[in-house]
Formats: sequence, structure tokens, C-alpha cells
Amino acid sequence: MQLADKVAVITGAASGIGKDIAKVFIAEGAKVAIADLNLDAANATAAEFDPSGDRAIGVAMDVTREDQVDAGIETVAAKFGGIDILVSNAGIQIVAPVDQFKFDDWKKLLAIHLDGAFLTTRACLKHMYAGRGGSVIYMGSVHSKEASPLKAPYVTAKHGLIGLAKVVAKEGAKHNVRANVICPGFVRTPLVDKQIPEQAKELGISEDDVVRTVMLKETVDGEFTTVDDVARTALFLAAFPTNALTGQSIVVSHGWFMQ
Ligand code: NAD
Repeated sequence: MQLADKVAVITGAASGIGKDIAKVFIAEGAKVAIADLNLDAANATAAEFDPSGDRAIGVAMDVTREDQVDAGIETVAAKFGGIDILVSNAGIQIVAPVDQFKFDDWKKLLAIHLDGAFLTTRACLKHMYAGRGGSVIYMGSVHSKEASPLKAPYVTAKHGLIGLAKVVAKEGAKHNVRANVICPGFVRTPLVDKQIPEQAKELGISEDDVVRTVMLKETVDGEFTTVDDVARTALFLAAFPTNALTGQSIVVSHGWFMQ
């Protein structure tokens, strides 16, 4: 059990990558708060992975809302007795060329990825600094390092998370808090399934060609990254015991991006 008795908050954990991280963390002994916009799905995820209700709870949280983040994190800390791990994972994708991008869409995407990361970090650091230290993990992307057409705010936000992680790493060290970023390649989740027809339309190519020539072209093996690939990386970072591994970004992308 690599996370025995650790308390983890995972945002956007009612679906996709966050949901699999919750499964792996619970299996490794952690108590996990599944924080999501969609409370019904968060509660269902908690019940699926921990039918006893002792080690997983669903928490209603829009990560862009300061009041909801602060209240949700307090609820988790009170129920489980502190917070050791934050996985700031909630995210969306909106694709369009920069010259046609709607300002409201730009602001919405940046708010979920960047305001959400800041607000959840601030709320959790209070408990980590007062307690046993901790591990902050941001869900970046290959788009934290690389750009693609049609994804201006996403690429901007994902690059920004690396800056935030480095600051949290420097400020958190004396409190035994580490901060790192996971940068996955394309993973078949609802977020990606939605993009395939949208990109096909924008680029004027077939959905098969979006997968083959846009999403997986640069990988070493033509394979999607899996939720399990990302969850194993999150477990490694969450369980890592010292400040030797902090302020880093780890790319998990079947070789799409090599640094
Ligand atoms: P997903 O759509 O399967 O899950 C996202 C979850 O976030 C959903 O449960 C949704 O309800 C929740 N969410 C959305 N807005 C929220 C908000 N304001 N507050 C709280 N929760 C909110 O997506 P996913 O593919 O699992 O993506 C998870 C993270 O991984 C995102 O940050 C995404 O950018 C990143 N990522 C995904 C891929 C990929 O290929 N799927 C690749 C790299 C990085």
C-alpha cells in the first residue's frame, strides 16, 4: 500500500483520467475525495470504488468558484483529518482558430484550468502546511510543452500550469510540499471523443485521419496513452517521499513529445 492513510483530493474525478486516478489511489490505501461539477457522477464514482463509504466521498465543486472550492476542501479535511495530496485535474477542451475564438470561451477555459488550479492549491496548501506536508499534482498535457492548431487557450493554460508548479515547489519545500505536472498525450476519454468530430470539421478531414494524422502521428507506436498510464504516473508522484522530485513535468505520451 503506497498511500496508506493518505488523504487525496482529485478534481474532475467523476470521469476519464481523474476517475482512474481515484481508483488507483483507493486501491493503494488512500482516502479520496472525488470533487466534480457533476455531484451525481462523483457520488456514483465514490460508491463504485468504495461501497463502504469510509474511504471515498463525492464532493460538489466548480473549481472556478472560490466559495465552492474553499467549502469543499474544508469538508474533506474535516471528514478525513487533513489533506496530503491534491490532483488538480478538472479540465475541458474547446477548439477553434484563434481569429475566430469567442472571448467567453477563452475565459471559460482559462478559468477552469488556471483559476481552478490556483484555488484548489491555495485551499489545500493551508492544510498541507499545517500538517504533514504533501504532494500537489497538476494535470498538464503534451500541450504544456508543444502547440497544436485550434487550441490557443488550452495550450496557454497547460503551459501556465508548469509555472504554477515551479512556484509551489519553491514556496512549499520548507513545508515538505512538492509540486509536479503530468503531461499526457491523447487519452480516449469523453474530452477527446468530443474533439474528434469537431477537429474533422475544422480541418476538413475524416475522423479516422484526425486520429491517425493529428493525434497519434508523432507517437512511437501509433497508440493512445491510457488512463492507467496516467494514473500510474500520478501514483509515483503522490508516493514519492522527498523534495528531490519537485518542480518537474513528466511527459507520458508514447513518445509523441520527447524532452
Ligand atoms: P473528462 O471530460 O473525461 O473529465 C473531466 C472532468 O472534469 C469531468 O468529470 C467534468 O465534470 C469535470 N469538470 C469540468 N469542469 C469542471 C469544473 N469547472 N469544476 C469541477 N469539475 C469540472 O476529461 P479527461 O480527458 O479525463 O481530462 C482530465 C484532465 O486531463 C484535463 O485537465 C485535461 O486537460 C487533461 N488531459 C487530457 C488528455 C486527454 O487526451 N484526454 C490529455 C492530456 C491532458
